[in-house]
Amino acid sequence: MKDSSCIFCKIANGEIPSTTLYEDDNFRVILDLGPASRGHALILPKEHFADVCALPEQLAAKALPLGARIGAAMKQALGCDGFNLVQNNGEAAGQTVFHFHMHVIPRYAGGPSMVTWTPGESTPEELAETAKAIQKAL
Ligand code: 5GP
Ligand code: ZN
Repeated sequence: MKDSSCIFCKIANGEIPSTTLYEDDNFRVILDLGPASRGHALILPKEHFADVCALPEQLAAKALPLGARIGAAMKQALGCDGFNLVQNNGEAAGQTVFHFHMHVIPRYAGGPSMVTWTPGESTPEELAETAKAIQKAL
């Protein structure tokens, strides 16, 4: 299903032009318009799913190997030293376009830090309580 008001539906299905790296029956992979680094790409399913929770398992199973393939090609073609696969779900997590997408971000040695956080603190009791709460909802 497509969402007529979704820009990534239009891009994924070729209604809006994009710099496309790869396309198959299920996905289009494009370059991000506001790249975090040279080569920053987005993997877009052609159908509309708001986030990873809505993505069917058979598509989710294809997204990760595709990310690995694109990242490996970036290492070979662009000479990046590594890459991040980043996938935001929900506004609080930084998602700004509510059509599932996975970022493939090339990382160059000595480049700026990205996708990072400050480690917090916890006690074994807090970890156990948190784990119990999540397990109940699985
Ligand atoms: P999010 O913050 O939702 O995880 O990522 C959205 C990404 O989409 C951002 O990195 C942003 O630069 C990119 N983006 C937003 N609109 C467009 C567009 O029209 N074309 C392309 N190629 N990238 C876009
Ligand atoms: Zn969409």
